[in-house]
Amino acid sequence: MKFADIVGQQEIKRRLINSVKDQRVSHAQLFHGAPGSGKMAMALAYAQYINCRRRGPDDSCGQCPSCVKYEKLAHPDLHFIFPVTKTSAVQKASSREFLGTWRNYLIERKAYINLEEWYRQMEVENKQGIINTEDINSINQTLAYKSFESEYKVMLIWMVERIYHAASTRILKILEEPPDKTLFILISENPDLIPLTILSRTQMIRFAPLSDDELTEGLLSRKQIAAADTAKIRFKAGGNLNVALQMAETGDTDEENFQFFRNWMRLCYVNNFASLYQMSADFVKLGREKQKSLLRYGLDIARRCLLMNYKLESKIRSEGEELEFIRKFSDFIHPGNIDTISAAFDESIDNIERNANGNILFINLSIKMTMWLRAVRK
Ligand SMILES: [Zn+2]
Repeated sequence: MKFADIVGQQEIKRRLINSVKDQRVSHAQLFHGAPGSGKMAMALAYAQYINCRRRGPDDSCGQCPSCVKYEKLAHPDLHFIFPVTKTSAVQKASSREFLGTWRNYLIERKAYINLEEWYRQMEVENKQGIINTEDINSINQTLAYKSFESEYKVMLIWMVERIYHAASTRILKILEEPPDKTLFILISENPDLIPLTILSRTQMIRFAPLSDDELTEGLLSRKQIAAADTAKIRFKAGGNLNVALQMAETGDTDEENFQFFRNWMRLCYVNNFASLYQMSADFVKLGREKQKSLLRYGLDIARRCLLMNYKLESKIRSEGEELEFIRKFSDFIHPGNIDTISAAFDESIDNIERNANGNILFINLSIKMTMWLRAVRK
């Protein structure tokens, strides 16, 4: 990965390049901030740059032996720790067990990755992965081997907020007394969940969401896509390149979800159980991935309704019919019921992942929605 492969984030690139030039590379850094903003890609480009044998003023060469190994993510001094969990194929979960899958995933996605998709890559049944204690315990051992190939050994810890509690004192100790010539890059979407003691040991770099223009640039460089579609996508993706790429791949710009969801909510509101019962068959036909996508869309609409309630319409990324719907629907979704409704949708998504019966799930959720939509607002 070169800096040139990264979308936007010019200021951070500049800052990291300067740190190498000035020989003040901080041994523990935390890249945190918006999902889909390029934290992992930046970490890889930075590590490659540091270890490049023919470093240019703005980027690594991409061709020296170090760069070639880095591009394949197969450099012996590049190490990864990431959330893992048991699967039907892997009983003893560790980052090492999943390394092959991990490398392929990163390369295929050019390091723009997200947790949910990673879980799918691992083929997990239970969706919560953690950074396990064994991985953390083996850091010193992993780094103890003398580095023959590069100046810096690099340890990338992705989604460090998912660290198992008992392991956090361990990592703290390592950061307090780091091995020589080692660079730790921790990556997080939610540093609020990381113990302060660990945060205080790192140099924090915050990643903002991409601008709409940067997002378009990223999309066009990665996908063959019509200009009209990029406009729609960039409006909805909210600066998250992962989401934008996913939309471009599935052609899913939420139009289907919108039509389905609007009909569904209307039927709930008028309490038309016969039609809801028929609709449950359509829901089942969608299949699990689209069912989840629909429910996630519902969650997103609920959040936008809340913004409407707070008179923040300018922050709502919707237009046309969808915006019109949100204006009306926000009379029924409000601070008094949003938590209950969100929890029910979240739970339904979990249950779909656990192979729940789609018919029953849809009917249950419809009955609850009917009740909530018709309840007198307090
Ligand atoms: Zn190079």
